[in-house]
Amino acid sequence: MARPKDTRPRGAGATVAPGARLRVLLPLPLADAYDYRAPASGAPPPGSFVTVPLGGRQATGVVWDGPPDPSLPESRLREVIAVLDAPPMTAALRRFVDWVAAYTLSPPGAVLRMAMSAPAALAPPAPQAGWRRAPAWPEGARLTPPRRRVLELLADGRARAGAEIAAAAGVAPAVLRAMAAAGLIVPSLLPRAPRFAMPAPDHPGPVLGREQAAAAAALSAAVARRAFSTTLLTGVTGSGKTEVYFEAVAETLRQGRQALVLLPEIALSTQWLERFRARFGVAPALWHSELTSRTRRDTWRAVAEGEAPVLVGARSALFLPFPDLGLIVVDEEHETAFKQEEGVVYHARDMAVVRARLAGAACVLASATPSLESVTNAATGRYASLHLPARHGGAELPEVALVDLRRTPPERGRFLSPPLVAAVGQTLARGEQAMLFLNRRGYAPMTLCRACGHRLRCPNCTAWLVEHRAQRRLQCHHCGHAEPPPEACPECGAPQATVPIGPGVERVLEEAKALWPEARVLVMASDTLPGPAAAAAAARSIREREVDLIIGTQIVAKGWHFPHLTLVGVVDADLGLAGGDLRASERTFQLLHQVAGRAGREEHRGRVLVQSFAPEHPVMRALVSGDSDAFMAAEAEARRPGHWPPFGRLAALIVSSEDERAAERTARDLGLAAPGGEGVEVLGPAPAPLAILRGRHRRRLLLKTRRDIAVQPLLRAWLAKVAVPGNVRVQVDVDPVGFL
Ligand code: ADP
Ligand code: ZN
Repeated sequence: MARPKDTRPRGAGATVAPGARLRVLLPLPLADAYDYRAPASGAPPPGSFVTVPLGGRQATGVVWDGPPDPSLPESRLREVIAVLDAPPMTAALRRFVDWVAAYTLSPPGAVLRMAMSAPAALAPPAPQAGWRRAPAWPEGARLTPPRRRVLELLADGRARAGAEIAAAAGVAPAVLRAMAAAGLIVPSLLPRAPRFAMPAPDHPGPVLGREQAAAAAALSAAVARRAFSTTLLTGVTGSGKTEVYFEAVAETLRQGRQALVLLPEIALSTQWLERFRARFGVAPALWHSELTSRTRRDTWRAVAEGEAPVLVGARSALFLPFPDLGLIVVDEEHETAFKQEEGVVYHARDMAVVRARLAGAACVLASATPSLESVTNAATGRYASLHLPARHGGAELPEVALVDLRRTPPERGRFLSPPLVAAVGQTLARGEQAMLFLNRRGYAPMTLCRACGHRLRCPNCTAWLVEHRAQRRLQCHHCGHAEPPPEACPECGAPQATVPIGPGVERVLEEAKALWPEARVLVMASDTLPGPAAAAAAARSIREREVDLIIGTQIVAKGWHFPHLTLVGVVDADLGLAGGDLRASERTFQLLHQVAGRAGREEHRGRVLVQSFAPEHPVMRALVSGDSDAFMAAEAEARRPGHWPPFGRLAALIVSSEDERAAERTARDLGLAAPGGEGVEVLGPAPAPLAILRGRHRRRLLLKTRRDIAVQPLLRAWLAKVAVPGNVRVQVDVDPVGFL
């Protein structure tokens, strides 16, 4: 890649006309801002999008802040080619790009690239052509009845699109062409219609209960202050948190500012979108990775021009060019989907708070099972907090009971215990819906040779191959490798000797079909519901009682409202506790509590049966007692003494290479150069749990500091000490969420 700044010698002290130089940041992964000469037309202000020469080509970037390098000789400066006709990037967004880059140790250009994710939007939209009535008609023009209808329609002097005229006047498009040729109508550019309708803040919504109304008033007041604040909004599943923060959205609209709502999985959010439409009368703008390039361009431009009053999106929406953001809501703030693990590694929940601070906006973090980070910030007063204590409409929380698998195990080769089988049977007999939850896709997580004990593993990763029986394939869930099930054991050659070990949702489905052959069963997993349309159709058929039994992975934990669902069975509650991840207990509790929260949302009280081999585990006890505050307090006390987050800071270095020895050597060098001192500790290097991923050998180091010690300066100094060869990558993960 061309890097002009590196190739240009730095002359000393050349004199420059003031104002003639500017810095331009380009959306390139290795770039800092480069210096250019302003065009003859004058220096564009910071934030302007400009086209500049870069090596032998052109690139589009943003005029950045800060002083240019005065030592660069005038003769070396190249001139800005063009200033684009797009709203300049706001100072708030520029500061955000700089902030995220510094925090995550990413090149600012890599972060800028996320803020320029729709380059086509930088060109103004092509104006649409239409027709209007000619100011004066030519002598002797023939006025047939169709022509008269067109002229009557256009009598108000307003220009209209050809298709609109043809439809309204009931004429063929050829009539318009003939009328133009006859000089009766003339071409005219159309005024641009707003791309997103204004949501109506005062459109009638539900009547809020007393506690809901109080919380809504507090959030609206925070928005009306037009200043930065962060509020943690908690409340049991179904308590109306969404309805409450909708009121904050309404206040933002009244203030004439924009609102951004981040959802963890936008593809699963059709129920949310329906509720938004019910509350505000129109749909919001959407932002996620599956938009068409045209919708992306239009949406980006609309946001930049202040024409998208409410936008709901995935984490990348944080980098959209809102001119005047008044509110950011992060719904289900505990979700790990907010962490981006590739490229610029950042946590959208945390960055949302930063974005709100830089924009002078209110930030709302909402969850029934908030993260320990947010709970701690609320406890120390850094965040305000609001709590909704009860389900709306008096619906009771479900009753949770444990099934001790040591005492009442399933039959051999089965996975549903007698108490759970009985409960599902009774629920179905009453005509109510039941759900079985198992956070594992496929048929079986492992396949073993009965003859020699060989386990089938991925050739590219340290991972077992997962059988997907419906597709007749074994798959790696880390790299996408797939192969047909072997006829014979690849190790010992024994024919037909492989057996599945453990359950996935497909295997639970098989068991359910044998137990309840009459039941209509739906499997909800990312591979059976590949897109928003499929997820929406599934949700509809559940609500309309076309389904009796739902079998699902973590997808089913996501905020669904299924009014007829009264029983939830957790097939393997211990699954997430293995592995020793710092947050394993917290995350298992959040997931199971959310799954449990799907039951009994309307008139009938829900029941939850949790199958576990460790019923005495604090997570299981908290699920039964429902006392999440006590559980989180115990979690906090377990982490505080060792300075584990949120009472200390963590950053991970992941060293990877296709060459195992190169990875090993760099990891060792990093280990030898590790920072130390009071309150600073480095763990590793050690092989990552996923020691090989997509053919790359991986080593991990973990930097842990006391909370008052920032990790970024330590990381910068550390990385500067070690020469990393070209075939080795060192990825920095500040505040890691995953530890694989
Ligand atoms: P949460 O986000 O806390 O899980 P929701 O906002 O999704 O709760 O509310 C749960 C259900 O109750 C939704 O169907 C919602 O429309 C309904 N609901 C909540 N509050 C009210 C209210 N005040 N009036 C009518 N329906 C409500
Ligand atoms: Zn793999």
